[in-house]
Amino acid sequence: MTDISAAHYDVIIVGLGPTGGMLANLLGMQGVRTLVLEREANMYDLPRAVHFDDEIMRAFQTIGIAHRLNEKVIVNKGMRFCDYDDNLLLDWPRKQSLTSNGWHASYRFHQPDLEQEIRQALLHRPSVQFALSSRVSNIGQSNDRASVTYQDVESNSHTVTSRYVVGCDGGSSFVREHLNIPMEILGFEQRWLVVDMLLNDEKPELGDHTIQYCDPENPATYCRNAGLRRRWEFALRDDQSDGDMTQDATIWQLLSRWINSSEARIERRAVYTFRSCVAERWRAGRILLAGDAAHLTPPFMGQGMCAGMRDVMNLAWKLAAVCNGTQTSDLLDTYQSERGENVKHYIQTAVKLGELINRIAAAPHAEKTARMESIISTLGPGLGDTNDPLRGTLFPQFRLSSGTRSDDYLGYRTTLFCRDRPVSASHEFETLSATNEPALGAVLDQLGVDEVIVRPDRYILSSSTKIRSITDADQASQHADPH
Ligand SMILES: Cc1cc2nc3c(=O)[nH]c(=O)nc-3n(C[C@H](O)[C@H](O)[C@H](O)COP(=O)(O)OP(=O)(O)OC[C@H]3O[C@@H](n4cnc5c(N)ncnc54)[C@H](O)[C@@H]3O)c2cc1C
Repeated sequence: MTDISAAHYDVIIVGLGPTGGMLANLLGMQGVRTLVLEREANMYDLPRAVHFDDEIMRAFQTIGIAHRLNEKVIVNKGMRFCDYDDNLLLDWPRKQSLTSNGWHASYRFHQPDLEQEIRQALLHRPSVQFALSSRVSNIGQSNDRASVTYQDVESNSHTVTSRYVVGCDGGSSFVREHLNIPMEILGFEQRWLVVDMLLNDEKPELGDHTIQYCDPENPATYCRNAGLRRRWEFALRDDQSDGDMTQDATIWQLLSRWINSSEARIERRAVYTFRSCVAERWRAGRILLAGDAAHLTPPFMGQGMCAGMRDVMNLAWKLAAVCNGTQTSDLLDTYQSERGENVKHYIQTAVKLGELINRIAAAPHAEKTARMESIISTLGPGLGDTNDPLRGTLFPQFRLSSGTRSDDYLGYRTTLFCRDRPVSASHEFETLSATNEPALGAVLDQLGVDEVIVRPDRYILSSSTKIRSITDADQASQHADPH
């Protein structure tokens, strides 16, 4: 959609990568007037991300693309750290059953398949417009609006205005640089060669697990991706130039222990400098950052894009509430406070994994076999009472008695889940009671509460055991009463 007829928008998004596309969908679902400006004429048709997790599939479910995507992904078996001789040093198995998010713990996918689905879904959001070949070159803001200048494919300049602008313009974000926001560096920086291969036929002996090869000469990673796609990544030494290492002959030499040129073709080769950093501020007045524009992680946990999806699940309902006047703009300050610590936790763990690969590589017999657990995503301080132990944790997804999944039934809205009648009925929330939904009763039992308010991004805002506490208190007072 390229006809930008409205002069003024609620939100302008800079960049239509996965983060910008997801944000546009979530805003569109809430009727927020949104314009997305994307520099490139065509979608980037080669993969970078190859992994996402159950929480992110749940986010894709929210925008209605999970079932189509589910046909194109594979469930990931897990990650193993091995020495050069395939001896297991560290195991990170991924459960093969459904998690409390209602999806599998870990998926492998082809990034262009996802971006295609995200863009397709945008075509059904009447309040969202997008313009390709539109490079943003200036941004300004005043008390009542932000303005964005971009160049179209013929280099004509246009200026559009909005209440808010969100920079989803990737790691070398123009928006972030324009705002002069520094990045806090979290440690790890290393060049890696990434090679994507397309097999001619299945080759089961390559295995289904991701394997981190802790090889003292060249730490390397093998990824079993969807379909016939496989990825290898190799850490580069300073004396290995990008030019030399991306030659066909060098690549086939590196791959020779796994595969030869009669079995596959090279789909892509690229050298990346894996970085770990977080923007010091994610909001400057009417302008915000999300996704790679706000943070970069080495991809050892496959969580860079996932972090961007969590960002916009958090941000989109807050932007809608501010734009429709039900909340003040202060709400937007909770975006970084809630997301920042979580992002750092993932990055720091990825950095440790990166260091582990290099450390085991340098001293291969130093580590004993160990297991690793997945991170459980939580929110930093922001909305709700941090003394409430459930606040800021993900509320499970369950099936209603009709067979419908709870998220599909409730949509992207704040919901009050209660055992019987709500103790504190509110017209602000959708309410679902366990009276007719036994599965909800079981979820509340498992959490040990009677009422939970869940935000649109599926995180718990507050929980209460009020009914039980009152009953307990009544019983206690009866016992205490001599009559
Ligand atoms: C080798 C590798 C492996 C990875 N593996 C994983 C993985 O397994 N799992 C995972 O979750 N993540 C992974 N990642 C990270 C993931 O690819 C990124 O986090 C994700 O693509 C970032 O999405 P984004 O939308 O924030 O930014 P981008 O995808 O970079 O999109 C930014 C968009 O903004 C546009 N843009 C830029 N400047 C302007 C401008 N001035 N005006 C208009 N438009 C502009 C760009 O054209 C682009 O379309 C990996 C990354 C790499 C490099």
